[in-house]
Amino acid sequence: MITRIEHPSWCHVSSCTVSQSGTGTHVSRTAVLDPDPLNAVHTTLRLIQNPPIPGYPTTGVTMVEILVTIPSYDPEISDEEFSFILSGARAHGLGTLLLAAGREAMS
Ligand SMILES: [Zn+2]
Repeated sequence: MITRIEHPSWCHVSSCTVSQSGTGTHVSRTAVLDPDPLNAVHTTLRLIQNPPIPGYPTTGVTMVEILVTIPSYDPEISDEEFSFILSGARAHGLGTLLLAAGREAMS
């Protein structure tokens, strides 16, 4: 039996890895914050959602994934990547804090 995959409205189907078996991750388009001219730190952000696991109510929720890449200036050393996965509420809280800090830093 073939089950139709239901994608969230924000899912970018060409990036989505959810299969007919129900495994994989819904993935949004990636938003890119251009590298900071002061330090070349590169940041991307996207929504992700793994399938729910029966009995685990905190699974299957939409999360915000932030990937921060810190460039290496040594060609022998790879860039460092740090991934942060936040709930919508935590991402909203972080956004509020960043807005306040950004305003203060620019004033
Ligand atoms: Zn999807």
